[in-house]
Amino acid sequence: VAKREGGGRVRLFEPAMGEEVLVKQKDKVDLRDALTRRQLVLHYQPIIDAASGRASHAEALVRWAHPTRGLLGPDKFIGLAEETGLIVPLGVHVLRTACLRAVRWRRDGRRLGVAVNVSPGQLSGEVFPREVAELLSATGLAPADLTVEVTEAVWADETAMRVLMAVRELGVRIALDDFGTGYSSLSYLRRYPFDLVKIDKSFTAGLGGDPRNEGVVRCIIGLAAVLGARTVAEGVETEAQADWLRREGCDYLQGYLFGRPDLLENWRPELLADPVPLPHS
Ligand code: C2E
Ligand code: MG
Ligand code: MG
Ligand code: MG
Repeated sequence: VAKREGGGRVRLFEPAMGEEVLVKQKDKVDLRDALTRRQLVLHYQPIIDAASGRASHAEALVRWAHPTRGLLGPDKFIGLAEETGLIVPLGVHVLRTACLRAVRWRRDGRRLGVAVNVSPGQLSGEVFPREVAELLSATGLAPADLTVEVTEAVWADETAMRVLMAVRELGVRIALDDFGTGYSSLSYLRRYPFDLVKIDKSFTAGLGGDPRNEGVVRCIIGLAAVLGARTVAEGVETEAQADWLRREGCDYLQGYLFGRPDLLENWRPELLADPVPLPHS
């Protein structure tokens, strides 16, 4: 056993691995610089009230305006941020920017809520609910106009759930992101209250021609309704998908059919004609 452990330790110093560590170190420094140099920008994707076809809120999706590599999507750096702990300051930046933006929209006469993605690593301590509360009072954003989106990874984590529920106590809405793709069991749904279920885009993509997939989506919509939550379908790309989802009673639609993540100024104007805020729960 000692020998195997020794072997394991030696492996740490293999040149290839050393290089990997160095690359990661450099990426980490770059990402930290990006935060201070304001290279992390938010794009907003409309979430559409299915009944009226108008926007109800906007999901903030972070991008890295990299000086040499162009606009990088979150898949390129959120993992690194989570591994290095940078997700905490990054998350604060995203939250603050999104809240300020929503307040500005409102000042411009558009009452649009904003949804922000939050990683499990941001929910490790009581500091997060306090920061959210401070941010809400500093910006004047109504708690109900902020939605926090978490994936099912959070639901299995007792501490994270406690922190999340403290945020919900403030009046902030909680959305279950990528629903149906994680490992969570239905028992969590029984235990914790939440406001929105986001049907993962893989289910939306499978609509049309696959009765089993459609049956699952129908069940998610029904389950959410029974639990007092509303449903958002992610990844809506076609009219046929939107029609099917509307017919089945899905409350909100989000996807390229309505608009890609972008600056609000570039949204299709009809989405903004008369925004429909989320109802009070
Ligand atoms: P998500 O929260 O599930 O966001 C939805 C993703 O689906 C976004 O990808 C969005 O651009 C994409 N999408 C929207 N409509 C369509 C469509 O019709 N078809 C297809 N194929 N895709 C669509 P994006 O922006 O690359 O974000 C990926 C993930 O990164 C997000 O998934 C979220 O988990 C994470 N993320 C984004 N911003 C943040 C952030 O500020 N903090 C944290 N912790 N995670 C973030
Ligand atoms: Mg999301
Ligand atoms: Mg999602
Ligand atoms: Mg996702």
